[in-house]
Amino acid sequence: MTLQLTHFINGQRTAPSARSQTVFEPATGQPRGEVSLASASEVEQAIAQAKAAFPAWAATTPLNRARILFRYKALLEQHADELAELITREHGKVFDDAKGELTRGLEVVEFACGIPHLLKGEHSEQVGGGVDAWSVNQPLGVVAGIAPFNFPAMVPMWMFPIALACGNCFIMKPSEKDPSAPLRLAELLKDAGLPDGVFNVVNGDKEAVDVLLTHPDIQAVSFVGSTPIAEYIYATGCAHGKRVQALGGAKNHMVVMPDADLDQAVNALMGAAYGSAGERCMAISVAVAVGDQVADQLIAALAPKVRALKIGDGMSPGMEMGPLVSAQHLAKVKDYVDAGVSEGAELVVDGREHKVPGLEQGYFMGGCLFDRVTADMSIYREEIFGPVLCVVRVPDYASAVKLINAHEYGNGTAIFTRDGDSARQFCNEIQVGMVGVNVPIPVPMAFHSFGGWKRSLFGPLHMHGPDGVRFYTKRKAITARWPTGIRSGAEFIMPTMK
Ligand code: NAD
Repeated sequence: MTLQLTHFINGQRTAPSARSQTVFEPATGQPRGEVSLASASEVEQAIAQAKAAFPAWAATTPLNRARILFRYKALLEQHADELAELITREHGKVFDDAKGELTRGLEVVEFACGIPHLLKGEHSEQVGGGVDAWSVNQPLGVVAGIAPFNFPAMVPMWMFPIALACGNCFIMKPSEKDPSAPLRLAELLKDAGLPDGVFNVVNGDKEAVDVLLTHPDIQAVSFVGSTPIAEYIYATGCAHGKRVQALGGAKNHMVVMPDADLDQAVNALMGAAYGSAGERCMAISVAVAVGDQVADQLIAALAPKVRALKIGDGMSPGMEMGPLVSAQHLAKVKDYVDAGVSEGAELVVDGREHKVPGLEQGYFMGGCLFDRVTADMSIYREEIFGPVLCVVRVPDYASAVKLINAHEYGNGTAIFTRDGDSARQFCNEIQVGMVGVNVPIPVPMAFHSFGGWKRSLFGPLHMHGPDGVRFYTKRKAITARWPTGIRSGAEFIMPTMK
């Protein structure tokens, strides 16, 4: 039976839209369902419901908003296997990795449970004689989130738990490639006690997104996806007076210094380059080997491991890598590998023709490993977003830093070394937003903020953590003077914060 993946508006799933698109199961290459593509009027309807729900939700005390999120956290834990299976079936990543993605999203819910504390403003007594001044952080209104395919649960959860906790209503526009998990996330919010209309999911494509970017009742837009679309979202949203944070693509380098623990570096590269088939914005796609000796050792150690990757259906236990998300994306990644060969890079491991027995229609390929990649090649300059690791050889530390700083992207990077001085200098001078020292994928925890530099992020504020609270609130400064005190009568019971 074909799944009908529609929208979730005002607390319920809607009827299918006039337009739709097929959702495939990447492991089998078979259709799994039809996702509705919202028309402009369907998006407008969702915005109207959210706008109607806003006054009551904004007036709900932060403590009571947090209590709903505490119940949501428990529901997410109860439904973790079910949600992870939805992710694996539509994205392709292995089941345990899907559970890891959920955990990282859950951590933002846990952070947002502290909203009564996070919303506290500043207070100054006696800014003048008998005058006090303070600030409060108030919600924006209806805000929107637009997510990529590669983290169908985690990226939405970077956004909506904090937005809702701050008192906003939310319209989520997931990727049309894997919409099932976000729809379930919406239903579980309702089960946790969230009032109808506060959180809505509209599925769709550019038509739906353009309404969110231009509609006067949308106050802010959070976006995560590729750089050309991020740039478009930022320019269009800002031109229409919205607050926008738009996270884009990446090309993350890992520097391996001659004094690094090579075994540790090799294991780190395997997980960071080939985990989730390289479809992570923080995947390491370039290993920068400092010195030919390091490069030769890395290649010698990596090649057999790449050939031995356990590749198959993400629902089968023990798999290390699943399929790519779609037939088109598989073709694009293979085209990049072809381009690397014709540009003169050395293809040490060629995974282009890898097949998984019994799943010949699935979108699988094996891991690919390139040596002697140079900065002018397309496989170095552009984001491939597949299981392809490029080794670039540089003579010294300074050349490694120069290479990374010259790249248009600046999402994540890492250095592997035993030397504290070089690590410290690297952290100081590298032009990248998230830096790891002997940590290949330095994703900040939920109580810090996530964001890249350069063309990996448009807008001043990063996602979640303290920046998330700032993004989803506007600050009001109040200055007050009281001529006389007003006294109420005596109270004899403990006050309850209802
Ligand atoms: P994408 O840019 O194709 O799509 C992202 C979202 O934008 C989707 O919801 C899609 O429906 C919408 N969209 C696509 N084309 C549009 C258009 N022309 N107009 C308006 N909306 C449009 O990205 P993707 O392929 O789903 O995801 C992969 C990309 O996301 C990679 O580049 C990856 O690096 C990036 N990403 C970045 C981060 C980060 O934190 N910086 C995190 C995850 C993914």
